[in-house]
Amino acid sequence: MAQLDSTALTYDQSYQCPICRQEQLSNLVMMDAFACSFCRHIFTANLSQQSICLADSNQPISWRWTGRRWQPLRHADIDFPLGVWIFCGGLTILPPAVIGGVRYIFPPLANSPGAQFPLLWLGLVFVAHFLIAVWGLAEFYQLPIYLSWKFRLQA
Ligand SMILES: [Zn+2]
Repeated sequence: MAQLDSTALTYDQSYQCPICRQEQLSNLVMMDAFACSFCRHIFTANLSQQSICLADSNQPISWRWTGRRWQPLRHADIDFPLGVWIFCGGLTILPPAVIGGVRYIFPPLANSPGAQFPLLWLGLVFVAHFLIAVWGLAEFYQLPIYLSWKFRLQA
């Protein structure tokens, strides 16, 4: 019983901040909330669900306390992760495929000055869309590294 108490989320203990991972969260006196003394973010707590939610953000970012660490809670309104993966895959593959198809159907003249440009453009389009897809997945899964960078940049 004592061991179970020591791993549960309570207001009496402090926990590593899920955003900056630098400092401990401690309870705000007389409030159902925790605060980080390093990054200054405030989290509302739900002890019955063992979870906290970032209070000072317009995004509903939540974590569940597993007893040892914080586990990001995914968006409750999206319960179809495969759809997110299909969307991000399509976002990465389709635009370069269109450009590659056009280059294949209408190849540039071999010795024209901009003959290499379509390949360069194809590479840029692929990299740009790939990064957007990675960003979307990081946002969807609330990846801890991504979140810590995101809030560091906002600070
Ligand atoms: Zn913090």
